[in-house]
Amino acid sequence: MYFLGFAALILAALWLTQTVFLDDLYRMIKTASIENSADYIVEHIDDDNFSYTLDEMHKKNQMGIEIYDTRSSIIFYQLYTSRQQDDWGIDYYPHQLHSYYKEAKANNGEMVFYEDVEQASPNKLHKEHQEPRHEREGVAILTCVRIAKDADNNEFMVMLRSEITPIESTVTTMRFILIIITGFVVILSIIMAVLISLKVSKPLKETTEKAKRLAGEDYSVDFDSKGYREVEELNSTLSFAASELGVATELRKELVANVSHDLRTPLTMIKGYAEVMRDIPGEMNEDNLQAIIDESTRLSNLVTDLLDISKLQSGAVPISKTTFSITDCTADIMTRFNVVSQQQGYSLKFEYDDDALVFADKARIEQVLYNLISNAVNYSDIDKEIVVRQIVKDKNVRIEVTDSGKGIEPEKLQHIWDRYYRADKNHQRAVVGSGLGLSIVKEILDLHQAHFGVTSVINKGSTFWFELPENTEK
Ligand code: ADP
Repeated sequence: MYFLGFAALILAALWLTQTVFLDDLYRMIKTASIENSADYIVEHIDDDNFSYTLDEMHKKNQMGIEIYDTRSSIIFYQLYTSRQQDDWGIDYYPHQLHSYYKEAKANNGEMVFYEDVEQASPNKLHKEHQEPRHEREGVAILTCVRIAKDADNNEFMVMLRSEITPIESTVTTMRFILIIITGFVVILSIIMAVLISLKVSKPLKETTEKAKRLAGEDYSVDFDSKGYREVEELNSTLSFAASELGVATELRKELVANVSHDLRTPLTMIKGYAEVMRDIPGEMNEDNLQAIIDESTRLSNLVTDLLDISKLQSGAVPISKTTFSITDCTADIMTRFNVVSQQQGYSLKFEYDDDALVFADKARIEQVLYNLISNAVNYSDIDKEIVVRQIVKDKNVRIEVTDSGKGIEPEKLQHIWDRYYRADKNHQRAVVGSGLGLSIVKEILDLHQAHFGVTSVINKGSTFWFELPENTEK
């Protein structure tokens, strides 16, 4: 529609200039041309062979040119006339010449214009061999008079005469061309409009339909409609959005399942122990109370983890970096595990050469170390041996946590950093975990722009590592 409207606008402009304003435009152009010619003649009157130039001007511009010597006020001597060329020119009665002269003189010799309209009545000014009378009827003629002086200070008068009504045959030809152009433009713009709507709107419509399906939670839609570049870009963006939404929805479902499972299990346990202790008098013992305490700790840890991860992801807690000894920090965390290590039968070793300083968020790095070591403890075998190594190399402090556990299958390695991911879905009760530990580690290390990773061999064990730049300024 816009395209057709645009075409209509251009056509309207064309029609207006060619019909309504044609006369005015033609008149304007002609008048300007006469003015320029008069200027030119006045400036070049002293040139050699100027009459030749005048002949050319007369032919080219279709104007009659007369130049009179006006030194004698009685008879104006004709210096040049274009009439000899083709008899199309000016023929005046002397009194007419004089009255033109007087008016121009009164106007400081400046341009004076007269406009006549050719009459149907016989006019002596036109000879028989000129254009037939009927064709020239109603034709407006502009006469321009100008008085100036040549190099010898001799006064002369220039008279130019030109038709300022477009010739009928030209107008007819132009109208005919205009009709053809109009038809052509209308047909062309209809074709273009149809083509554009096919090319532009069709793929957009298809994409819209698919986007509606996407809004209806159908994440399998494939935005594959082809078209021009922008549509294809839009489609690939939407395809990406659809797959991301699909993943997010999956995660959300898994999250609800995991969280409700994780919340329900300890709650059921707590309730069970509490009921047993209420109903059976002999069961009110320390072990059962400890079980309740353990399960409550589990619950509270889970809730803390959930809060941590959402805070970290929303950027609500900015990291505040300080310089601290990562060696001391690791040793501290390890003593926490040492308390239960004998009891549970695992050994913890810390290997390092020297004290190393890093510039990082201490509390967050402690959390990373804690999560990595507790995973190593949780996923190790009975004869657990966990080694934490600190390696300083090339201004980098690398911390490695190696366990001798059952390892992680290669295809699962890349997922362990995801939220709620557990390599072993049917995890044993003994393994306390929310599936959030490593994603918290990832978030924290990402915030520090630190490198980190894992290598794992099935039934041999895994090594989780991360690197922080060493801070040598004490
Ligand atoms: P969880 O709370 O389940 O431990 P994490 O995010 O800490 O959650 O770990 C995700 C999964 O990665 C774990 O469920 C486990 O399957 C696997 N994993 C993590 N650390 C180890 C490890 N040291 N050895 C074997 N598997 C591990």
